Amino acid sequence: MFVGHLAVALAAKRVEPRAPLGTLVGAAFAFDLIWPVLLLAGIEMVRIDPGNTAFTPLAFDDYPWSHSLSMAFVWAVAVGRVAAAVLKHARAGLIIGLTVLSHWVLDFLMHRPDLPLWPGGPEVGLGLWNSIPLTLVVEGVFFAAGVAIYLRATRARDRVGTWAFWTLVLLTTAIWISGPLSPPPPGVTAIAVVGLALWLFPMWAVWIERHREHRPPAMGSRPRGGPTVRLDI
Ligand SMILES: [Zn+2]
Repeated sequence: MFVGHLAVALAAKRVEPRAPLGTLVGAAFAFDLIWPVLLLAGIEMVRIDPGNTAFTPLAFDDYPWSHSLSMAFVWAVAVGRVAAAVLKHARAGLIIGLTVLSHWVLDFLMHRPDLPLWPGGPEVGLGLWNSIPLTLVVEGVFFAAGVAIYLRATRARDRVGTWAFWTLVLLTTAIWISGPLSPPPPGVTAIAVVGLALWLFPMWAVWIERHREHRPPAMGSRPRGGPTVRLDI
């Protein structure tokens, strides 16, 4: 999964505006940010195996530290707690932690059974990647929903706020759709180096957020007449 992770970050921004978008994007991609580092260190293994699934030529032979369910919980709690402490906001930390965890759930939908429940444990995955059309439809709808939610929750403060956002959406869509059409990568080092480029996206999100602001609640969503109770003191 690729743009689907970005969709979660965009939607989470609506759920908790106090969670910074750059942190949410980093959280949503967290395991794929760690993975190339572990590949380069020789700790995790990937193999180029065209046809492994229809959507990707990669065989994820061994990635227990970045992609097992048990480690997903560990990373989610650790990142969530640090974020809550730094932001001094428990709910923002919770949403960031859940965004980290969402990565595993979404990968579980796409991957063939290669995601370990714990290091050395049974491997699971529903294998949506076995069908390119199904992957494009499910992940595409998911991404479109994330983009729509984010656009309803925020608005551009200037032109940069508009085009910085849309170039991110178009670039990630292009990378995602061209994946199955591209030749397999030349080697594992190339996979890791390209994977490291993913670190650009959280920084890109920081830049986007500097040029956008949260929309005030729409008139229609305010309670009409009568006493109102403010819950968000
Ligand atoms: Zn992943």
